[in-house]
Amino acid sequence: MSVDLVKLNGILDELRPYQATLVAVSKTKPESDILEVLNHGHSVFGENYVQELVSKQINLPKTIQWHFIGHLQSNKVKLIVPFVNLIHGVDSWNLMTEINKQAQKYEFKLDLLLQVHIAVEETKFGLDSKEIFEIVEKINKGLVPAINLRGLMGMASLTDNQTLIRKEFNGLNKLFASIQSELPADKQSAFNVLSMGMSSDYKIALDEGSTMIRIGSAIFGGRS
Ligand SMILES: *Cc1c(COP(=O)(O)O)cnc(C)c1O
Repeated sequence: MSVDLVKLNGILDELRPYQATLVAVSKTKPESDILEVLNHGHSVFGENYVQELVSKQINLPKTIQWHFIGHLQSNKVKLIVPFVNLIHGVDSWNLMTEINKQAQKYEFKLDLLLQVHIAVEETKFGLDSKEIFEIVEKINKGLVPAINLRGLMGMASLTDNQTLIRKEFNGLNKLFASIQSELPADKQSAFNVLSMGMSSDYKIALDEGSTMIRIGSAIFGGRS
């Protein structure tokens, strides 16, 4: 058995004072591992790959809340829109309009987060603050009525430098607050998700205001 339920309990205990949510990141892990965590009482899971998510969703209990946390291509949006609960990594206006279009077909609203580029690395996906404000302006104009903008997501630099990681999370939290203030009064309370923190840096993220952490390897073990 590779699932570490003791560690899972420990993380859930750590989250409680912050009232933050755990997304158990099950990418590349077998369905049996997901069932083990689900039977333990945790039902929010994150996946990175569309095909893998779709087949797991078909096979596993419908009580699971699925979050898509990977890089989403526009042509795959339609495959996950019917069942996904939250899309974390929205990093372009084009992608947002495609999600809006697919959600309109089902006549529901879809929750999503904009992904912000906070790391020093060039390779990570995400928007800069100028692009975020441009998108928020378009949302405020009512151009994507089937979208619920719930918050922001970011990944800190892959580094042992705790000071840098803290600075990046702190900056994301400040951006989060300034975007919230740009939203119409009736939309501000729903803009309440700040998705930041992974196995290696979630303690810093919680300290810097995270409301949702995405933990894979600490619960499910390493990925090959
Ligand atoms: C894989 C992944 C995680 C989980 O990473 P761990 O280090 O295994 O906790 C979190 N967020 C995203 C976007 C990921 O791709």
